[in-house]
Amino acid sequence: CGIIGIASNKPVSAAIINSLRKLEYRGYDSSGIATLSEGILNEAKSEGRVDILEKNLAVKKMSGLIGIGHVRWATHGIPNTINAHPHSSESVSVVHNGIIENSTILKKHLINKGHLFKSQTDTEVIVHLITEYLKELNLKDAIIKTLKQLHGSFALGIIFKDQPDLIVGARRGSPLAVGYGPNENYLGSDSYALKSMTNKISYLDDGEFCIIKKDQVEFFDEEGLKVNKKVLELSSKE
Ligand code: GLU
Repeated sequence: CGIIGIASNKPVSAAIINSLRKLEYRGYDSSGIATLSEGILNEAKSEGRVDILEKNLAVKKMSGLIGIGHVRWATHGIPNTINAHPHSSESVSVVHNGIIENSTILKKHLINKGHLFKSQTDTEVIVHLITEYLKELNLKDAIIKTLKQLHGSFALGIIFKDQPDLIVGARRGSPLAVGYGPNENYLGSDSYALKSMTNKISYLDDGEFCIIKKDQVEFFDEEGLKVNKKVLELSSKE
């Protein structure tokens, strides 16, 4: 339903919670956040309002200079804490808007390969596909191969245990924007989520993915070729 990601030179959890509040207008049933600090993926999620997530002790203590957050509108699996995003393995943490239409068949395949699923969501197949491909491929190739397996619609935000300074965003069929700030850059499912932080925005086109660092953003097409992006300056009314 709503995605936010921040790569910064300062701790990001409070700013992620603030942006999730901006996404509340879309309607949602649960929310969650993940950050990476000192090589550990920290995750906290809760059913209900962002207020409840904010009061979660794990969020109050959460450090980390990169992170992702999500407000969920359930399509696969009931609204509860386990099904709330982010979904994580030992190596990646993922937030997802949209629907993965071939999740049942992908899940069967991944379970046969020994992957253990924690939730009932369609989203969790993305976590396990990336985890599987990262065993043999570099980050970009693992992302490209994963996206090719997915049928349906998605906007994604992904952080990686072994990548202390970057967030991957990807889109097909669900909107996704990048925002540019001072010593930090952002990922957001709409410009409204980013508005309090920046008015400089680029939109991903369908099939594209991006790698966001605090001082650099790169865009790629579905084959991994670099794409040049226009930076738009939104007026305060937009
Ligand atoms: N299909 C995913 C789920 O049910 C994402 C829903 C959303 O866009 O919030 O968890």
